[in-house]
Amino acid sequence: MSETKHNWTKEEILAIYNKPMMELLYEAATIHRLHHDPNVVQVSTLLSIKTGGCSEDCGYCPQAARYHTDIEGNDLMSVQQVKAQALRAKSTGSSRVCMGAAWRNVKDGEEFDQVLEMVRTINKLDMEVCCTLGMITENQAQRLAEAGLYAYNHNLDSSEDYYKEVISTRGYQDRLDTIDNVRKTNVTVCSGGIIGMGEKLEDRAGMLVALSTLNPQPESTPINALVAVEGTPLEDEQPVEIWDMIRMVATTRIIMPETQVRLSAGRTQMSREGQAMCFFAGANSIFAGDKLLTTPNPDVNEDMKMFATLGLDPQKPFTKKVQPQSVEASNSQFEALGEKPKWTRPEHKIERNELAKASGKAQK
Ligand code: SF4
Repeated sequence: MSETKHNWTKEEILAIYNKPMMELLYEAATIHRLHHDPNVVQVSTLLSIKTGGCSEDCGYCPQAARYHTDIEGNDLMSVQQVKAQALRAKSTGSSRVCMGAAWRNVKDGEEFDQVLEMVRTINKLDMEVCCTLGMITENQAQRLAEAGLYAYNHNLDSSEDYYKEVISTRGYQDRLDTIDNVRKTNVTVCSGGIIGMGEKLEDRAGMLVALSTLNPQPESTPINALVAVEGTPLEDEQPVEIWDMIRMVATTRIIMPETQVRLSAGRTQMSREGQAMCFFAGANSIFAGDKLLTTPNPDVNEDMKMFATLGLDPQKPFTKKVQPQSVEASNSQFEALGEKPKWTRPEHKIERNELAKASGKAQK
């Protein structure tokens, strides 16, 4: 088996992305088979544990408080609510629960303690637990690890250049610093991005350079197709072509052979045949559940029918790495430090973000 390469260049990645489709598919499927069981796909459930009211200005996100979208916000869910949802997810074949909170960054205090308890609770159900809570410090990463967290999601979204066209309330380096903090623990890294935000192919390749040159590479990489939500700055972007999605998945598979490549947002816009091509090209993880945080997702039964048609099996939990032990809060070695890290706020003007903020379209 070839060694993972960590010095991919944008030119090399573009050359792979632009190969004739049949060559690309063959190469990606070959590498996929060398590193993974091609008939096994991980099923994860994404749970929005705190929705809306976010202070950030991510141009794709209906949860940003400054835009005028129709989503209903909610405060942090209780541990019992989360446990009930996790049990439901387990009963329908999910091996991982990913909890998302619409926060800029984690703040020490009661709410974070509650999230830590959710992590312990789900880990004890023998499911992999992932969190996506915004930027975190090393101490917060250690506390999540100690609670039994399996993975932390923190997407790079796009290339460093294009990131500046989408988000002004934090910098790319903040993302990399958080990933670095997670890497100081035994928690695995989930990081990927979104296509269809108006970026160039060079930006897609740029994002893949940033991800593939991390050493180690992320254990999981979600590839999202933008779901353009009314009221967000990107509401007028056209749906991503299935061929772009397949090329992106195949390229990610080739340059990141060990990573679980995750089909994420945008699956409702994809036919079964399109998704099957993505699995062939190396995707081996999907999100289940009728919602992905706030945007629609295929029905679980439909997914299970697709699995039956394609002869796919859901991946068992802890296939890639052993289950972490959860340390109870009373035995914790890490106290809350109450740090106030200086995450950046570039606050440069992004015209379409400013327009969406000012327009108030949903207030009709
Ligand atoms: S993507 Fe996350 S950080 Fe950005 S606005 Fe949405 S909830 Fe906030």
